[in-house]
Amino acid sequence: MRKRIVLFLIILIFLSLIFIVLPKIGFYTFVFDQGEYEHSDESSTERISDLNELSPKTRELALEFLEKCEENGLNVRITETYRTQARQDILYEQGRTTPGLVVTWTKNSKHTKRHAFDICEDDTDDPYGDLEFFRKCAEIGKEVGFTPGYYFDEVQDMPHYELNRWWIQ
Ligand SMILES: [Zn+2]
Repeated sequence: MRKRIVLFLIILIFLSLIFIVLPKIGFYTFVFDQGEYEHSDESSTERISDLNELSPKTRELALEFLEKCEENGLNVRITETYRTQARQDILYEQGRTTPGLVVTWTKNSKHTKRHAFDICEDDTDDPYGDLEFFRKCAEIGKEVGFTPGYYFDEVQDMPHYELNRWWIQ
C-alpha cells in the first residue's frame, strides 16, 4: 500500500514538473523557440512587418541587429517579418504564372517559420539603391548571428535576413 502512494506521488511531481513548472519558467519557449502571436490566420495574405510576429529568438536578435545598425548610422526599416504560407504561395507565383517581377525563389521560406525578416533603407527616395548600405547591414547581421541573404550564393537577396539553427526547421 505504501509503495503505491510513493509511486503516485512520484508521478504527480513528474507531471506537475512537465505541465506546470517548466512552462512557468519558459523552458519550452527557450528550447522550441515558440511564442504566442496575434497573426496566426494562415489564410491571410497581408504583408506583416511587426517584429512581435517573429519567433522569440529571431526577434531578440533582430532588435540587437537594429540597435547596432543605428549605432553605425544605418537607417533600417523592417518591411516584412512573418509571412503566411498563403502569402508565400502568391509571391512565388508572381513572375511565374502571374504578372510582375520574380520576388522569391522558394515556396519553403524561413518567413513562414517566423525565422526571417526583410529590410530596406529608411528616409530615402531609393530604399533599395544604396548597395553600400546593404553591404554594411549584412556585416552586422552576420555578426549578430543571422544568415544575411546578401551572402546567398545562388540568388542574392539583399534585404533578407534569416536565423538558421540546426535544431530549428
Ligand atoms: Zn526575405
